[in-house]
Amino acid sequence: MILKVSINLDCINVTPVLFSAFDLWMERGYCPVMDMDKVARLIRELLIEIGEDPDREGLRKTPERVADSWSFLTSGYRSSLESVINGAVFESEANNMILCKNIEVYGLCEHHMLPFFGSCTIGYIAKKKVIGVSKLARIVDHFARRLQIQERLTSQIARAVKNAVDAQGVGVVIEAKHMCMIMRGVEKQHSSMTTSSVLGCFHSDLSTRTEFLTLAGR
Ligand SMILES: [Zn+2]
Repeated sequence: MILKVSINLDCINVTPVLFSAFDLWMERGYCPVMDMDKVARLIRELLIEIGEDPDREGLRKTPERVADSWSFLTSGYRSSLESVINGAVFESEANNMILCKNIEVYGLCEHHMLPFFGSCTIGYIAKKKVIGVSKLARIVDHFARRLQIQERLTSQIARAVKNAVDAQGVGVVIEAKHMCMIMRGVEKQHSSMTTSSVLGCFHSDLSTRTEFLTLAGR
């Protein structure tokens, strides 16, 4: 697995890391029930702490709306990969590269709980099985709808696709803009971050990796 992180024109190669029990937990998903009333109460407290009046007209329903919104944005914790894929894996003799480009990504950075957004390209070479194309998009959402870092999101998608179809190899590239860099901190409105994860023959075979990155527009 190779993670390449680039911010503007700077390129940093990140050493592959061993995945912890935490990563495995993140990958499998976790299914607690979100206590909407409790979240709404916490948001009301937050409104007070930032200097607002939670009882003024415009904010009266805000705590419930925010709880609803966070329930959706973090729904990845309450879904399982099995239910996301839902049996949409089919026998096929295809051994050429299958590529799905420009899948929209909307995630929340775990450091600031602010959105990041961009697009994802997934490529794989099947052995005997392929996955329904809409399921690739659903796998992206499954891992994006939780607190994330882009690097982990990229590798989780790659591993999920590889495991789902027992692929010879998988490549994933995500390019995203992070609101925590745009709205605050260094306030770099035009910066974006690119991460890639390559597994199997996409990792071991240079020509396969090059074909993937060329088709992905990298
Ligand atoms: Zn951030």
